Amino acid sequence: MGKATGFMEIEREESIKRDPVQRLNDWKEYSVPFSDEQMTRQGARCMDCGTPFCHIGMDIDGATSGCPVYNLIPEWNDLVYKGKWKEALDRLMQTNNFPEFTGRVCPAPCEGSCTVAINDPAVAIKNIEQAIIDKGFENGWITPRIPEHRTGKTVAIIGSGPAGLAAADQLNQAGHSVTVYERSDRAGGLLTYGIPNMKLDKEVVERRVQLLRDEGIEFVLNTEVGKDISAEDIKSEYDSVILCTGSQKHRDLPLEGRESKGVRYAMDYLTTSTASLLNEDVAPEEELDAKGKDVIVIGGGDTGADCIATALRQGARSIYQFGKHPQLPIARTEDNLWPAFPQVFSLEYSHKEAKEKFGEDIRQYSIQTKKFVADEQGKLKELHTVEMEKTRDENGMFVYQEIPGTEKVWPAQLVLIAIGFEGAEQPVLQAFGVDVERNKVNAAYNDFQTNIDHVFAAGDARRGQSLIVWAINEGREVAYQVDQYLMGETALPTVANM
Ligand SMILES: Cc1cc2nc3c(=O)[nH]c(=O)nc-3n(C[C@H](O)[C@H](O)[C@H](O)COP(=O)(O)OP(=O)(O)OC[C@H]3O[C@@H](n4cnc5c(N)ncnc54)[C@H](O)[C@@H]3O)c2cc1C
Ligand code: SF4
Repeated sequence: MGKATGFMEIEREESIKRDPVQRLNDWKEYSVPFSDEQMTRQGARCMDCGTPFCHIGMDIDGATSGCPVYNLIPEWNDLVYKGKWKEALDRLMQTNNFPEFTGRVCPAPCEGSCTVAINDPAVAIKNIEQAIIDKGFENGWITPRIPEHRTGKTVAIIGSGPAGLAAADQLNQAGHSVTVYERSDRAGGLLTYGIPNMKLDKEVVERRVQLLRDEGIEFVLNTEVGKDISAEDIKSEYDSVILCTGSQKHRDLPLEGRESKGVRYAMDYLTTSTASLLNEDVAPEEELDAKGKDVIVIGGGDTGADCIATALRQGARSIYQFGKHPQLPIARTEDNLWPAFPQVFSLEYSHKEAKEKFGEDIRQYSIQTKKFVADEQGKLKELHTVEMEKTRDENGMFVYQEIPGTEKVWPAQLVLIAIGFEGAEQPVLQAFGVDVERNKVNAAYNDFQTNIDHVFAAGDARRGQSLIVWAINEGREVAYQVDQYLMGETALPTVANM
């Protein structure tokens, strides 16, 4: 274990965040990594509690608790405490293909179920994970692992998000020839066009994609399967196909005035912003530029938080974020006990930035949009809302009721709809003829096989909008099943034999 008495002597520290006002002037990552001494001290806080819950990776009350890739957290905490970084890296890479992504942007369900967190701040697991992998790259310990033998089997993976990349990595290491098809101009899925650069630098994504290329994986970009190349061609050309197309079918808000210019999906906004950052010759269309505008983000989740950070950097005049739910409590309540994910109030990076800039928490709780109003040119000029009360009906179910007299009009020239996703985009799934249930591919977690022979599915397309760490889990697990299917046996890891 770390230091036997570490959890009693040492306070939790988090990686330093760059000054919120300063960092609004650029698009660089907002977090500064820990120093080696800080890391060692933080590793010392792990008490290796015998039956650690930090790596259980399961759903409790609808939210993930513990690490879904079952990272060997107490082991690498101890190794970091002892300064054995290379050994820590070896342990980390046994379970997680891309710790440089999760170490930066995972919501860290491991920390909510850390035993120290029962009555103290959790071990800084996520920061330690990032430090291990960053050191691995800095020291040149991460080099291409080119498979010595090829099996002669071919696999097509549709979609290059974390699920597709993890499956590709595993199957390539098993010796298969893997081709990843991606409709965007860059690989990475939502890692590239979704999560903004301040949270996850795109060079970090590209570094991994290049490594996978060097290891023998082929990437076919700018190619939409089902449109630029047919599903039939893919099915007949490859021994196995994995659908990792994500869950990006927008959820809309079809209210009066929805057609006004300036009412747009959050994803269009985030994608355009990153595209213009990555490509000097791509300027964001005027409608999607927040500069000088009053911006309202509808939706209280992470996508909305990323829109706030982006609008701040573009120079918005004012920003508000609307959420349907009341503000979360400051501490755990009796129906949200450890080791469940803590459903407590917190300020995301962008909320802290907005508070510095505008002097207040910009979130508006229990609020519902009623309509959008445009000017004579069809451009959005205002948005109408009413406050809501959350109560229980006669059956004990939660219901929301409007509070009379709380109607309000907000000036707005840009409204971003960030109320989640309805599920997987259907055309590509129809092209392959796979069964779909509630907008998700119908394939069981245990075998990932769809109703179509040799076509598998994994990640958000199968599970619904989730987390990067679950996408990596599913990529690894589907690879295990595909290898078994192709070879009749497999030496790849799976949860069952870890
Ligand atoms: C704005 C935003 C921020 C997020 N932030 C976080 C976060 O901080 N932490 C976290 O853990 N999770 C976060 N998530 C969730 C996380 O990004 C997803 O759960 C994860 O990326 C899902 O991985 P995936 O590989 O299944 O799909 P995706 O990442 O969605 O990748 C699917 C890929 O398939 C491609 N594709 C689709 N159809 C075709 C086709 N027909 N042909 C070729 N290519 C196709 C798409 O272009 C895309 O690149 C965020 C999500 C959003 C939207
Ligand atoms: S991947 Fe996420 S849950 Fe797992 S150890 Fe890292 S931060 Fe924690």
